[in-house]
Amino acid sequence: MMKKILIVGAGLSGSVIARSLAEQGYQVTVVEKRSTVAGNCHSERDTETNIMVHKYGPHIFHTDDTEVWEYITNFGTMMPYVNRVKATTNQQVFSLPINLHTINQFFKKTLSPDEARTFIAEQADTQIETPKTFEEQALKFLGEPLYLAFFKGYTIKQWGLSPSQLPASILKRLPVRFTYDDNYFSHKYQGMPKEGYTPIIENILSHENITLHLDTEYTADKCHAYDHTFFSGTLDSFFNYEFGRLAYRTVTFEEFNYSGDFQGCAVMNYCEEEVPYTRITEHKFFSPWETHDESICYKEYSKECGNADEPYYPIRLTGENTLLKQYVDKATTQRNVSFIGRLGTYRYLDMDVTIREALDTANEFLRNEEANRSQPAFFSNVL
Ligand code: UDP
Repeated sequence: MMKKILIVGAGLSGSVIARSLAEQGYQVTVVEKRSTVAGNCHSERDTETNIMVHKYGPHIFHTDDTEVWEYITNFGTMMPYVNRVKATTNQQVFSLPINLHTINQFFKKTLSPDEARTFIAEQADTQIETPKTFEEQALKFLGEPLYLAFFKGYTIKQWGLSPSQLPASILKRLPVRFTYDDNYFSHKYQGMPKEGYTPIIENILSHENITLHLDTEYTADKCHAYDHTFFSGTLDSFFNYEFGRLAYRTVTFEEFNYSGDFQGCAVMNYCEEEVPYTRITEHKFFSPWETHDESICYKEYSKECGNADEPYYPIRLTGENTLLKQYVDKATTQRNVSFIGRLGTYRYLDMDVTIREALDTANEFLRNEEANRSQPAFFSNVL
């Protein structure tokens, strides 16, 4: 008899694993507490304007991983999309990521790429050898003026912490370019699903061996009826928060309609601390192949995640995380449960990495099954 698998959460991680195992003949049950699949990349058309709205904030698909790109395009049509972010600061609009145009506009210069490289190197703090924190990374590679104008205020708003407490890895997400290339991402593939992410996830879950239960809260007694559980909820919730709560940031959206084009681009960041929101997204520009006269915008605010809020970003501080370690240690003593995805592994994961890890997790699970080995609680390094 093929083993029975329970998957908690119908986001990217859970759905991809469900599909891989279902294709190998496993009976897979997926429980999802929301009434929609796709987790936080869920998008839906507004009934009045027909604009595709990213209900949980902007999700732009980008990857260097050919297999992941082929995977997603196999389940839905991806349209060409290049994320070009604008930023308002110092009473001007700049282009992000920091590129030659940003540098020349900001410093009122007409530098060539090589001149700009030298110029920025002169701004840099050469005392910092190996940057560990966000702030050190910024001061070493950008210098103080750009750091203050574009990163300090935004980061304080986004994370509720000083950039000196955050890891350099957060800033490393953003490239710095000495050309006029203003593509926010440096990946080979980039696109936006023609009909949103939700139908893609529905297609992934559409398999005769997968049973999906929406509006179904996971409870601990559910595990027992299954041979193995993949859990994509928050790691601390699985253990009823017994060591305390892991810290997350949540985001909230203030939605407003506009007749016409409100800001003329999909994402406008507001880098100054005095502006209470971090960015405004104008959703119709995420579908540039469509035309809409009306517009729907989200003003995005970030705050500490309370008990009743949706966890978005795990807050990983620099240095040791004792609380996380307690949960990880406890999780590794569990039998027949594996923790997956952004919430299950408490990491800031992009969609493409999530799919890659889910595919790898399923493969490793299958290899362990074949070899009769026990399954690990984590298929990736989470500490
Ligand atoms: N960031 C910033 N200013 C900006 C954009 C980004 O300081 O205008 C910092 C901020 O700390 C943010 C991080 O860079 O959390 C990563 O930015 P990204 O755009 O990747 O964030 P996401 O879209 O995942 O929220």
